[in-house]
Amino acid sequence: MDAFRIISCPIEATPEQAARIEATLRSFARACNYVALRGKQEKVSAKRKLQKLCYYDVRERFGLSANLAIAAIQRVSVAVKTSGTREVSFRPKSADYDARTFSFRERDWSVSLTLLGGRERFPLRIGTWQRDALTGTEPRSAVLCKKSNGRYYVDIRLRREQPPKQEGAGTLGVDMGVKNIAVTSTGTIYSSEALNAYRLERHRVRKSLQSKAAKGTRSSTRRNCRKALARLSGKERRRCKEENHVISRRIVREAKAGGLTIVLEDLTGIRDRTNQRLRRSQRGLHNRWSFHQLRQFIEYKAADAGVPVIVIDPRYTSQTCARCYCIGKRRGDSFHCPNCGHNDHSDKNAAKVIAAVGGAMSRPERSAVYCVWHGAEGKVEISRLQTGEA
Ligand SMILES: [Zn+2]
Repeated sequence: MDAFRIISCPIEATPEQAARIEATLRSFARACNYVALRGKQEKVSAKRKLQKLCYYDVRERFGLSANLAIAAIQRVSVAVKTSGTREVSFRPKSADYDARTFSFRERDWSVSLTLLGGRERFPLRIGTWQRDALTGTEPRSAVLCKKSNGRYYVDIRLRREQPPKQEGAGTLGVDMGVKNIAVTSTGTIYSSEALNAYRLERHRVRKSLQSKAAKGTRSSTRRNCRKALARLSGKERRRCKEENHVISRRIVREAKAGGLTIVLEDLTGIRDRTNQRLRRSQRGLHNRWSFHQLRQFIEYKAADAGVPVIVIDPRYTSQTCARCYCIGKRRGDSFHCPNCGHNDHSDKNAAKVIAAVGGAMSRPERSAVYCVWHGAEGKVEISRLQTGEA
């Protein structure tokens, strides 16, 4: 997992400073494009080779300081390696800074940055959250960027300090789904009802705008619809992100308080697997809910809090009985086990199964897990999963 966190800080710049920032961003982007072109011509992408090839050129042509020139070369090298066959190109939106070109001063909440023609100091326009995060730190790298609102930011990179993981035998299973975004094995339900209603409404608005954008008689109508669509998608994304933050924060807090290990399902590829089982009206919703994002949020918040997280295979967790580990029947919200007669809310039952599987995985030396798989014509069944003391 990423061992850094980014603290995004708007900076205050006078018009003269803004002009110098613009000039620096332009030079940095032009330098990157130049390095990418030379690299392509000479068929090199390794940082060291690119550096040998064009370091002096870059400094002379674009007036960048030594470390900014190296940062440009580094950026190209990374971009080329991750771009595959795509052509890389750079826009004057950001530049990378290291400990030689950037420094942070807590005394007056300011940063100093190397720009074209010298160093400049900028006050940060930040609130309590950023100040708390930056207090007592010595950040060694940052990215100067111009965001789409036209303002300048310094995204400060902080090395994450991860507290030692707590030791505990208990687990907190988390079941994720369409109707309830998350349900924990302790019975907490994070319902998606309100959000789903909101998103269905958005979906309807979007559909109507899309058809107008495609069939509008005037080009200005079509253009306005496209603009409105772009605005909406940003709004919806932010709302979902906020919700994922809230849910993940609560789950981590609960695990921390109880000294529990969080157990999540690995939902990679959930779109392919579940789509056939969903009603048409649910499909769009499911596809757009970012379970991946929720998992990421839980993982990094847990790491910050010293809460361990384990990820398990999601197959059969929703059909298995949490009491006897036989395959039971799930109908809507309710789960029934014909073997032992256990009845429960279906998502809570699934969360408990997830917790049990995770518990068996996290302390294999103290538990016996018997997982007998009856594989016949693709039909697999967990017949017994026992998590007692060995
Ligand atoms: Zn049962």
